[in-house]
Amino acid sequence: MAENLVEMRELVKQFPVKSGLLQREVATVNAVAGVDLDVKRGETLGLVGESGCGKTTLGRMLVRLLEPTSGTINFDGQDVTHLSDRELKPFRKRVQIIFQDPYSSLDPRAQVGESIAEGLRLHGIGDKDERRERVTDMLELVGLKADHVGRYPHEFSGGQRQRIGIARALILKPDLVVADEPVSALDVSVQAQVLNLLKELQDELDLTLMFIAHNLGVVEHISNRVAVMYLGRIVELTDRDTLYANPLHPYTEALLSAIPIPDPDRSRDRHILQGEIPSPLNPPSGCHFHPRCPIARQGLCDVEDPRLMEGPDEVDHLAACWLRAGDRAVAGV
Ligand code: SF4
Repeated sequence: MAENLVEMRELVKQFPVKSGLLQREVATVNAVAGVDLDVKRGETLGLVGESGCGKTTLGRMLVRLLEPTSGTINFDGQDVTHLSDRELKPFRKRVQIIFQDPYSSLDPRAQVGESIAEGLRLHGIGDKDERRERVTDMLELVGLKADHVGRYPHEFSGGQRQRIGIARALILKPDLVVADEPVSALDVSVQAQVLNLLKELQDELDLTLMFIAHNLGVVEHISNRVAVMYLGRIVELTDRDTLYANPLHPYTEALLSAIPIPDPDRSRDRHILQGEIPSPLNPPSGCHFHPRCPIARQGLCDVEDPRLMEGPDEVDHLAACWLRAGDRAVAGV
């Protein structure tokens, strides 16, 4: 059995920009601009970056809600990049998504039991009684009650609705779940409960998880490895402990410094990110991060585009930067 459940290679997603009465295509946005990324069997891979960095687009391509423009996605040894509708059905049974806003992803007129059972029905699994039993078991597994089965989404709190979203994603016993900002819409007090639930379920059900977030603080406790994304590309990738202790990329350093420290006696150097993430319609020259980078070097960073490279430490640690932490002293930065 291969170590990698998912292998994405040179993955690109472009969206056309249309204008005028005739809606002519006037430009192309590279939302995902050539990503190579593996997801190992059984791991939680955190995928982090600001809004607009392409992380949601990447997640949606992986579950095949979006068709890649180019590149390949391999899932469990099978090329799933361009599956037909008929081929997608067995794939969808194995790969599920949890959305950020559980309310808009649930039919407000359907009882939650029906929404959770939908996947079972579509795949012809069990008769009515067996499906009901599986749904009530799943409700209890995600911390709800069996008698919630006949209630409607508006009768639940945000955290409970996300538990319903998780139940719906897990009812088919998938191998891979893409959780797209599953706690971003929840109160901070509820976020920890849902994160803990996902972690427990992952261990119990032997799931592989891609966890998408815009904040490195959210993925710290749940991830085995973390990929940091900026303007459609992965800019740093390594195991969780290495990333949080020894980030190599200035963008990762800035994201890390934004995590609040609950201990008033400890502080952290703040690297405030300047400006907004640039438009992927017109990305900056050279390193795409250079207009916001506090250590950008003129004549290098604005000209030469760094690719993901092994870092100076002796672990698998990739970063796309000419002046990675560790190399900076040598470069006189
Ligand atoms: Fe900053 Fe230059 Fe590294 Fe880009 S390549 S992150 S601009 S130091």
